[in-house]
Parts: sequence; structure tokens; C-alpha cells
Amino acid sequence: MAVQLAKRMQRLGTETAFEVLARAKALEAKGRSVVHLEIGEPDFDTPRNIVDAGVKALQEGATHYGPSAGLPQAREAFAEHFSRDRGVQVTPEQFVITPGAKPILYFVITALVDEGAEVVYPNPGFPIYESVIDFVGGKAVPLPLREENDFRIDHDELRSLTNSNTRLIIINSPGNPTGGVLTMEDLEVVAEVAKKNDAWVLADEIYSHIVYEGEHRSILEIDGMAERTIVLDGHSKTYAMTGWRLGYGVMPQDLAPAIARLMTNVNSCTASFTQLAGVEALLGDQSGAEAMVKEFQIRRDLLVDALNDIPGLRCKKPGGAFYVFPNVEETGAKAEDFARTLLDEYGVASLAGTSFGRFGAGYLRFSYANSQDNLREAVTRIRRYVDDLARA
Ligand code: PLP
Repeated sequence: MAVQLAKRMQRLGTETAFEVLARAKALEAKGRSVVHLEIGEPDFDTPRNIVDAGVKALQEGATHYGPSAGLPQAREAFAEHFSRDRGVQVTPEQFVITPGAKPILYFVITALVDEGAEVVYPNPGFPIYESVIDFVGGKAVPLPLREENDFRIDHDELRSLTNSNTRLIIINSPGNPTGGVLTMEDLEVVAEVAKKNDAWVLADEIYSHIVYEGEHRSILEIDGMAERTIVLDGHSKTYAMTGWRLGYGVMPQDLAPAIARLMTNVNSCTASFTQLAGVEALLGDQSGAEAMVKEFQIRRDLLVDALNDIPGLRCKKPGGAFYVFPNVEETGAKAEDFARTLLDEYGVASLAGTSFGRFGAGYLRFSYANSQDNLREAVTRIRRYVDDLARA
């Protein structure tokens, strides 16, 4: 039978990273060597103490359904950690724990955005923002992040893009795909605009612990923002737990039951043993997570310096996450063609900037969640391609 999808499916986007990964794997199956710089996940294994806690939880019977918003002891531990970490007091009732952080995006947008309501979101940005806004019938309003502004928000532009129809403003710091970090002044402007227009803020802080200079700052620190902010965070990146699926939203207590109701409808609950492993992650030994950040910083410096050494490439040094976002326009190749040829003929998988929205045109995203040796090999291959382009 011909598959006739519901009309709404035409409005649902996707993440190109998974498609590029599939193409790269197909090349590898044919015997080709590929350096993977397309993947948005730490290449490290989950630290041992967390794995042990997960195994222990399974052995002790954490194999059943739990409450949709999360296990009481997990919500308590997450709240204790979050209060200490961000320096703002939050309660367990403000938490909804989800399988990965992604559902928080989907649930919050679904719960708050009516058809036609405007949602301002970063562009280039995580592609799921635009996808879900479109899916629920909201009006997606891109907020450009520009290289000349270190991929931060332009304050006047944000002011001009918001109005009384703005229902939600999404921010992401440190940011995917640029690694850009918002300053406290930026957050103050977001807060000002949200209050003025009576809008919500969804602060995607999934990379909050992967910051290289200074400290992560949250919009929740600003007076009056707790009542209109949902912070999204999770264990995927900080603790190399992408496959465990564990994330959470911190929100006003009155919003949490609606988000938990969506959990009941979609997932029932997050895996119980995963939540208990997540408690150990937050309250136990942090040395594994800290070692990862140190290694990411070395790789960032290695990769940024090496890319800037290639004629025709230009790369900012990002303040957080594990991505660089170099501009390749001076090579004369379109970034999409650059990414395709780089994979097919030179064996380096990356993503074109436009996978993250139209303001990503001219850029590539490289993830440095790969070993220093592999990064050096990737740079050698990229240089060879750029040399060949210059000769052509
Ligand atoms: N937000 C951003 C900016 C991300 O880059 C990602 C993952 O790539 C997520 C959210 C979702 O994370 P999770 O794997 O925990 O669902």
C-alpha cells in the first residue's frame, strides 16, 4: 500500500547528522577510511562510577515503571545538584526527567505554542528547534548568529524581531553548531525582551559544563526569570551518556504537570536504572567529566590553529561545546559541495552550516569529539582538498 502520511509530517524536519553518519558508514563498509567529525557526541565512554551505579540499579530491581515526571529520589538529587551548580534555588517539583533532553524541546514547544504564535530561535542552531516549531504550526522567527559577533545575539536585532505575538524565545549557550557563548549582557537583553512581551524563554543549556573560559551563566540567575524560563539540560554531553537517554527540564512548578502529562502520553517514564545512574553522575565523583573537558580544550586549540593555517579557511575559537564552525567561502566552493566532496573523495565527514539553518551558509561544522590523532589526520585531508581546489 502506498504510504500516505498525514499532512503535518510535511512540516517535520530532521537532523542531517544522522544522514551523514549513515553515508559515512556506507563508505566505510566499502573499505574506505573516514574520519568522523560529523557526530555530536563525546567519543569517551561513560565514566565507570556511573556505569557501576546503573548496573547496581538493574541488579537491585530498578526495572519497573516509575512516575512520569521522574523518580522522587532522582528529582530530589537533580534539584540539589542544579541549585548548587547554577546558584539558584530550585525544588524537585520543578523537574521533569525525560529520555534524553530532546523531549523537553518537543514537549515545551507543544505545551506552550499555539498555531500562529511566534517563536524566536537561534540560526544557525540545533535543527530540531525549527522542525518542532513548524510541526506544531508556530511561526519560526530566526535570530541570526553571526561570526563577526562571535556567534552571539545581536541585541537590537533581537529587540526588532520580538513583539506581543512572541510566545517563546529559544536560546542555546554554549551553542550548537558554533560553540558560541552568550554573555551576561546578552542574557539581560533576552530577559528584558521576554518580560516586555510576556514571552517564555527556553534556555537550552545542554553544553553548560563544556565551557573553556570563565563560568557558564544561566538566564535563571536574572531576577524575575524563574517564572517564565524552562532550562533544558541533561547527561548526554557532560557525562558521555548519549545512549542512556537522560535529560531534564527545570520549569515553574505550575508548568511541570503539563509536561509530565506529555511524558505519560509519549514515554510513560524515563528508564528507572538510567535515572539512578544519573544521580551518581551528578552527585558522585566528577573527575571523569572534568578530564573530558580538559581533553576537549586541547583538541579545540589544536583544530582551530590547524584550520586557520589552511589558506581559504577562517575559524573562530569557540568558548564552549565541542564544535568549530569555520568559514570556507574563500576556497570558492559552496559549503554543501565542500562537505560532500570532503567526505566522498577525501574521507572526512562533516556537516554543512546550512544543516543548521540558512544563516549557516558558507560554513561547516566539525565536531572535535574525536582523538587528537584523528583530528590531525582530518586536517591533513582537508588541507589536501583545499590545495586541490586552489589548483583546479
Ligand atoms: N540541544 C542541543 C543544542 C543539542 O546539540 C542536543 C544534542 O545533540 C540536544 C539538545 C539533545 O540532547 P539529547 O541527546 O540529550 O536528547
